[in-house]
Amino acid sequence: MAKVLPLTILPSPLLHQKSQPIAVAKITQPEIQQLISDMEQTMKANNGVGLAAVQVGKLLQLALIETQDGILVLINPQITSKSWLKNEGEEGCLSVPDKFGLVKRLTKIKVSAYNQQGKKISFTAKGFFARVIQHEVDHINGILFIDRTKKIYGGPPRDRQRD
Ligand code: ZN
Repeated sequence: MAKVLPLTILPSPLLHQKSQPIAVAKITQPEIQQLISDMEQTMKANNGVGLAAVQVGKLLQLALIETQDGILVLINPQITSKSWLKNEGEEGCLSVPDKFGLVKRLTKIKVSAYNQQGKKISFTAKGFFARVIQHEVDHINGILFIDRTKKIYGGPPRDRQRD
């Protein structure tokens, strides 16, 4: 059974630590599969659009992202190609409750990663999808969106998307 895990929030020092890669042979093992299920439950329970493992206290290179086609699982993700263009957009984070800020992100990226079945995948991401992936890759590298913006503001979280 999947369960909702407690969120790691500021000022936890974990959020500024780098996560470790997951050995490919371990991806399909019960421990990681259970963690993925639990993270999915946790993300849904908190209305997140993305969740990195560090946000549930695990320093592993694993993130979940909500897409139109369902939940995308990214293990050991790498951004392999970057656009020149950046744009600014609003971000929030489940680990930084009730704070939002404008962050510049690449508008288009190529990503390679392993999926939940331990298969290598690569794809191109644009716009908001690319933004969420960059936010999650930052988590894996111990970076929060507030480290990338000088304009932090509070606001009602209900009508905003957080990851
Ligand atoms: Zn976040």
